[in-house]
Amino acid sequence: MTMSNDISGLTASHAQNPLPVDTARALIRAAIEPVSTIECVALRAALGRVLAADVISPIDVPAHDNAAMDGYAFDGAALSAAAMPAGSAKQSDVALTLAVAGEARAGHPFDQPCGAGQCVRIMTGAPMPAGCDTVVPQEFVIRTSQNITFDPQRIERGANCRRTGEDLARGRAALGAGRIVRAADLGLLASLGVAEVAVRRRVRVAFFSTGDELRSVGEPLGPGCVYDSNRYTLYSMLARMNVEALDLGVVRDEPDALEAALRNAAACADVVLTSGGVSVGDADFTARMTATFGDVAFWQLAMRPGRPLAFGRLWPAERGPNQRSALFFGLPGNPVAVMVTFYQFVREAILTISGADAAAPLQFSAESSMPIKKRPGRTEFLRGEATRGSTGLWSVAPTRSQGSGVLSSMSEANCFIVLPHEQGDVQAGAAVEIMPFDGLI
Ligand code: AMP
Ligand code: MG
Repeated sequence: MTMSNDISGLTASHAQNPLPVDTARALIRAAIEPVSTIECVALRAALGRVLAADVISPIDVPAHDNAAMDGYAFDGAALSAAAMPAGSAKQSDVALTLAVAGEARAGHPFDQPCGAGQCVRIMTGAPMPAGCDTVVPQEFVIRTSQNITFDPQRIERGANCRRTGEDLARGRAALGAGRIVRAADLGLLASLGVAEVAVRRRVRVAFFSTGDELRSVGEPLGPGCVYDSNRYTLYSMLARMNVEALDLGVVRDEPDALEAALRNAAACADVVLTSGGVSVGDADFTARMTATFGDVAFWQLAMRPGRPLAFGRLWPAERGPNQRSALFFGLPGNPVAVMVTFYQFVREAILTISGADAAAPLQFSAESSMPIKKRPGRTEFLRGEATRGSTGLWSVAPTRSQGSGVLSSMSEANCFIVLPHEQGDVQAGAAVEIMPFDGLI
């Protein structure tokens, strides 16, 4: 079960007026809740998964005060004593001399007391000996066989000592529920000695393409036909989201075939994605059909590319309050529109169903290197090529073609240029928002 609120009101928004992107996003957000099944997985298998609960640190990291540098550990009280010796006028003349009482290496603590006037030779990571709180780096000292001598003014009390629990304190949440486990998180969990983690189950996403003109890779291309590329972009985008993706192939533009395919997809997935068949003429046909076993809104979005979008839920068999339903996105057919609507709507929906914190994709400001024509009243996602100039500032230019069917524009680009709803024409040199593909795709 993936939908919380009743979305029956949504069909009414079958718009006379195109729906702003933010409104559509809010409607989608309000209609989704996370999967509830939780699995316990071994540490490595948690990479890319969504934490189901906060991970509370069972230990302090580091577990003991330890040296941050190779040098000599000592009680930093000696520094203030050395700074103000009786009768001394010029502090810089005063060197501090300490007797070397022993050695501490990582995994081999020095377990005797280190008293006043003494120090311990210490290596990075070795536990600080009792009574010591400061490490003078070895480069700062002159060493004789028994002693070290250094200028106390070059060092402050507490320097070069990593404190117990300064990385993670015992009993505190080291990682929060909803976190997608990344490389540093996996290492962090290992540093706590955590061997298993509770994660939410993977979301299952079924997808297929619709269109009589579509041929699959490996088939001959007849007259008027095109190869199905949407299944490959969808596969790739889903692969990056760590979901269980089910490729259900190409479905012809026939009501029976489409109904069977949708019901089958709804039976085996949390989310069903289709491409094509939602433009004005097709949508009427698909709308009539999904009305019998779904609750689907057909939106005209105030955006470019990606104007038509169907959203709602589908029931595999009998429709009813206790029946499992699948979330449904009927994406446009044009290959660029598929990618844009995926990133603008489907990505966040899948993150939310996965139980993940759905942070907005990274976006920052760049200077447009050329004028851009833009009509207020719709959000536009242009394909852009951003470059970093010699001044360190980013500038961006739209790719040559901006057609919603021109997939090479996505290959060529390294970012979206996001022109907001109210924005008009952009002058050359004006600031625009860009959304880099790296990290997003
Ligand atoms: P539709 O939304 O079905 O009217 O499709 C709009 C345009 O996208 C048409 O030119 C289709 O041929 C094209 N198209 C639809 N689905 C795909 C697909 N899976 N791969 C490549 N092009 C597609
Ligand atoms: Mg079609």
